[in-house]
Amino acid sequence: MDRRLFLTTGFAALSGAVLASETKSSENREIKAIESAQVGCLVDTTLCIGCRKCEEACNRRNNLPRPENPFTDQTVFRDRRRPTEGAFTVVNEYPGMPSPDQKQIGTTHCKVQCMHCLTPSCVSACLVGAMTKQMDGSVVYNKNICLGCRYCMVACPFEIPAYEFSEPLKPKVRKCEFCADYKTKQGANPACAAACPTETLVFGKRQELLALARSRIKNRPDRYLDYIYGEYEAGGTSWLYLTGRPMKEIDLVPMPIKSPAVTTESIQHGIFKFGIIPMALYGFLAGLMWKNRKSEEKNELKKTEQTERGKQ
Ligand code: SF4
Ligand code: SF4
Ligand code: SF4
Repeated sequence: MDRRLFLTTGFAALSGAVLASETKSSENREIKAIESAQVGCLVDTTLCIGCRKCEEACNRRNNLPRPENPFTDQTVFRDRRRPTEGAFTVVNEYPGMPSPDQKQIGTTHCKVQCMHCLTPSCVSACLVGAMTKQMDGSVVYNKNICLGCRYCMVACPFEIPAYEFSEPLKPKVRKCEFCADYKTKQGANPACAAACPTETLVFGKRQELLALARSRIKNRPDRYLDYIYGEYEAGGTSWLYLTGRPMKEIDLVPMPIKSPAVTTESIQHGIFKFGIIPMALYGFLAGLMWKNRKSEEKNELKKTEQTERGKQ
């Protein structure tokens, strides 16, 4: 089921079920407080050669299924790809063209992944706090408390989270989590940035990355557009982009500077205020989650019994 259909087939109705508005306000306060500690990644699209090493590293790091063709396969560039449940990041290719001042703009590659928004709509939209923003700015997912309602998918302005529709038993929402656990444990670059051979991807404190981006623009005005995508888009994002051509041409779409999360929250608060609290629905979703957990436990038990039997 595609996202649009999902929206129109009743899930929009479920949006009325947005709960716990008080919790959201405190989450918002926390989000603002951690802004200065945020890390990020600067993507300099003028340096990207489309080698897809970042995709490969991400695939390995997250134990995702290997794709049918090797990562060296460049035919993937025939299509515009989006992150999926099996690929948390993808690189797209955009053919060169003459610029308005008749200079030739070369072929450009642009990496796509979760933007780790400063005020993430997915976090704001999640009924149970399965999406959370960490102190360093990473937006991570907890499969153990997820209801499977997929409201985060609908809320994301960058259309990033994917759902494991092919997984019948315990489907999860999947997206780049900024290698959160890896960074914490190793204090290292995220896997994609570590693998990039051209320094297209620079990991660091968001404030420092903004300064770096500004200095690159200042030193090479012939190379860069005087704009940092992600500085303000959707309330600001941890992933930032530099380009040498109009952003729209490489699918860095214009976004309002106010995070959609702010609007969603005012609607939620309004709903709450007028007492339209769909407790029955919430109960239903909670029941569904409980049922899923039980079936998971049963499956685990079955597996253990089978293994034990195998040993005898
Ligand atoms: S890009 Fe989407 S999924 Fe990622 S943090 Fe922002 S709202 Fe959430
Ligand atoms: S930060 Fe980690 S999870 Fe995100 S795209 Fe890079 S390698 Fe993949
Ligand atoms: S590894 Fe670096 S140069 Fe290669 S495709 Fe990814 S971002 Fe571009």
